[in-house]
Amino acid sequence: MVACFFVCANNFLKKARKENKSKKEKTEEKRRKGTKLQNIQKLTLYISSYKGIECIYNLKTDKLYGIISKSHENKRRWIFILKRGVLFYGKVAFKVLCVLALAITIIIAIVLLKYKPAYKVFVDGEQVGLVENVQEFEKYFDGKMNLIKYIAFYSVEKEPKYEFAFVSKKEEFNKDAVYNKIAENTQITYSAYAITVDGEEEAYVGNVEEAEKLVGELSKKYAKNDEDLDINIGVHQVYTQNAEDYTIDKSSLAKKEVTKVVDKKLEEEHENKKHTVNGILLAQTPVSGVITSRYGSRWGTTHKGLDIGAPIGTDIHAAGDGTVEKVVNSNVGYGNLVVISHGNGIQTYYAHCSKLYVKKGQKISAGDVIAAVGSTGDSTGPHCHFEIRIDGVATNPQQYLYNN
Ligand SMILES: [Zn+2]
Repeated sequence: MVACFFVCANNFLKKARKENKSKKEKTEEKRRKGTKLQNIQKLTLYISSYKGIECIYNLKTDKLYGIISKSHENKRRWIFILKRGVLFYGKVAFKVLCVLALAITIIIAIVLLKYKPAYKVFVDGEQVGLVENVQEFEKYFDGKMNLIKYIAFYSVEKEPKYEFAFVSKKEEFNKDAVYNKIAENTQITYSAYAITVDGEEEAYVGNVEEAEKLVGELSKKYAKNDEDLDINIGVHQVYTQNAEDYTIDKSSLAKKEVTKVVDKKLEEEHENKKHTVNGILLAQTPVSGVITSRYGSRWGTTHKGLDIGAPIGTDIHAAGDGTVEKVVNSNVGYGNLVVISHGNGIQTYYAHCSKLYVKKGQKISAGDVIAAVGSTGDSTGPHCHFEIRIDGVATNPQQYLYNN
């Protein structure tokens, strides 16, 4: 519109200049008819000059728009015209807007009588319900999710889509149904506290207070029972998507489970302790067989070992981890002999063997087959003469093995 007025004002000025030239001849005619200024839709402005006074008026309405003094510069002239035009179109625009606003108000009023604004909720392209307000619903969803016991966090796998619509007033909002549908497609991660025994997770409880209480109770119980045993009961937080994995709701059950594990461990440790010589574990019996002669006095001398009777060729196992210190082939005394050094001054002897399977310096693990039962050397029948020596002094093997 503004551009239009610029054009019109320019045209006016051109015409005015032209008219100025032939002013003398046409003064009378101009005064009478006036000069057409510009047609701008319905606004047809004319300019008429009389005795140096120029009048602008609307020809259609015959309404005087204003008076411009001849001394006015051209610029001011068209600013005047522009102002008038803006005023005119402003009024027209205002009227149109008023009518429009009224129409919209009436339409909204009619719509609101029958319909209500709502958000349709879609999951996976399927409409699952109606909610009144998206933000409010999301807050409701979050609140309800967080009521789930032991929830750590959740992630909605199929994000719902909301679509604004006017729906019939008869249709009801159903945020619970919508919640359920979205919750079906939500991955929940639970938080729990694992009770650990020597670093292994053995049971789970739901909250940290319960976990710490349980650990405290158990630690106290076992510290009293056996101060030497080194069993570490601890707690750490874990996350899972399967709440069923957990005994999280039943701390008494968790306590039972942990107690069972610790008791078993204690028993094992007790057992190991029995088989420990100078810190060296000798838990493996060398031969499965029958004890035919024990350690101690025998016919006026001391029998330094334990004789285990077994058929020739029966496997002889190393009693513990160590290194082969000696391998002797002989027909006298110990006969064919293996000596294993276990460290800390502990040695084990396996005598009268029929076969020797190891070499001096060889590393041995408990249970490795090192030789076969025989009757070599000073022997009256197939057996394994087994000795445990501490710093070179033989001790009763039955303090550690074959003692059940
Ligand atoms: Zn013997």
